[in-house]
Amino acid sequence: MSLLFLTIVTGCSQPSSLYQDQFLAFGTVVSLSIWGASKQQNHEASRLIREDFAAMHDTWHAWKKGGLLGEINQNISDGKPTPLSQEASELLQQSATLSEQSNHLFNPAIGKLVALWGFHGEERKGPPPAQEKIDLLLQSNPTLSTLQFTEGNIQSSNPSVKIDLGGIAKGYAVDRAIEQLKQLGIQHAIVNTGGDLRAIGAHGERNWNIGIRAPDGGEPIASLQPKNDESIFTSGDYERMFLYEGKRYHHIIDPRTGWPATGTRSVTVIHKRATIADAAATALLIADPEQRTTIAKQMGIEQLLIIDQAGDYHMSESMQQRLTFLGDPPHITRLVIR
Ligand code: ADP
Ligand code: MG
Repeated sequence: MSLLFLTIVTGCSQPSSLYQDQFLAFGTVVSLSIWGASKQQNHEASRLIREDFAAMHDTWHAWKKGGLLGEINQNISDGKPTPLSQEASELLQQSATLSEQSNHLFNPAIGKLVALWGFHGEERKGPPPAQEKIDLLLQSNPTLSTLQFTEGNIQSSNPSVKIDLGGIAKGYAVDRAIEQLKQLGIQHAIVNTGGDLRAIGAHGERNWNIGIRAPDGGEPIASLQPKNDESIFTSGDYERMFLYEGKRYHHIIDPRTGWPATGTRSVTVIHKRATIADAAATALLIADPEQRTTIAKQMGIEQLLIIDQAGDYHMSESMQQRLTFLGDPPHITRLVIR
């Protein structure tokens, strides 16, 4: 989240054509920008999207009781099935597929590990969990491959699976929002959740323009103009985290070690679908350098930017073509995805 932020330079010709709305969901600011639609379309869009984000937040919340995911997790732990709508089933099946494509680096079944690290809750602080506790959860080997979808029910053969969709839910909600906009006849819009976004159409005569910020904040390092319909998502090691004895522990957990992923500061991907971009950014933040291009390929990602701990840039050619560096261009290592 938030490597990217949106810079909309309002055109002076028709400033009233840009409509903007902001609200909170998934613990972040959601911004909706619409160009060139009617007042009625704008208000209807805001209403529907606010409602849907709130519903998604309640349904898929990883640790609050009362939502569907809470019920599914309780039943998995008790070895029982949960009835599921077609829509809910599709999201979970897609999550399972993306997990496999990522060699299970994107692994939404590790909710117990995320909770053990204290990232289920508002307050996060050290010390890190005891290694024995981490080891026990690793030995229970939770993956979404153990999910069974039968007769409108979901079940898992492994009771230690606890589903946490934090790595994909925002992308899914953004895709739904864009579908709703399209159904309202809106052709030009951006749905932005804390820097992760999907853009359709353009900003009047010009394209939309997105600023890409360095992981340490500050001025944007580059700008990018989303084409007709694209999602741009970033995962970074600097978002949700705590400091303990001078070390940083962040919220993206390497399912192989049970510890926060190391080596990569941030990953930015471009893909048509926000759901896929979101899952891929999370997976690629964890991937080792030797795995990156294979996993990107398996997940259908061609446009990829990785900034490693040393501050070095690794980029596919198709991503490099999209970026306009605002200062001196950094040294870039080429990623070949094939
Ligand atoms: P952000 O929400 O900052 O954009 P991500 O999309 O990368 O970041 O999602 C991180 C969230 O995903 C964590 O807070 C946690 O809920 C969940 N998560 C952590 N590790 C993994 C993992 N290996 N696979 C899938 N989800 C994960
Ligand atoms: Mg993600």
